[in-house]
Order: sequence, then structure tokens, then C-alpha cells
Amino acid sequence: MFLMMACHGCDLLTQVPPLPRSGAAYCPRCGSLLLRSKPNSIERSLALVLASMILFAVAVSFPFLAMKSGGFEQQTN
Ligand SMILES: [Zn+2]
Repeated sequence: MFLMMACHGCDLLTQVPPLPRSGAAYCPRCGSLLLRSKPNSIERSLALVLASMILFAVAVSFPFLAMKSGGFEQQTN
């Protein structure tokens, strides 16, 4: 199954064949990168989601900013 892509550099419409693992497709007119196959993309995305969930839990549970003035203290997360 071919993908139809437009080049960002010259707007040429190109049919891109299925890419091999770690392969890339370039524009035949100007040589710009059209598409790159990234190995382990699902695992990378899952790792980023898990890291963001951990960082979000830490950011919500600890105060980000605290202001103290005249015996009155205000904290925000
Ligand atoms: Zn191009």
C-alpha cells in the first residue's frame, strides 16, 4: 500500500512505498526528507507516557509555589 505525500520543500506529490525498518523516503525533486520509519515507536511512546504520568503525579502532589506574607501562607500546586 502506497502513501501519497506532499513534499514540504517543493509541494511535489509523491507515492511513498512501504518503508523497511529504519528506512527513509526522500523527495525525488529536491531531496527533502518525506518520511522516516522509526523502530520501536510503540515502546518509545509508551515510555514517554509512563514518564509523563510519574512526573505529573509528582508535580500535583508537591507545592510549586509558596508565598508567605504577614503570617499568611499561600501554596499552589
Ligand atoms: Zn521536494
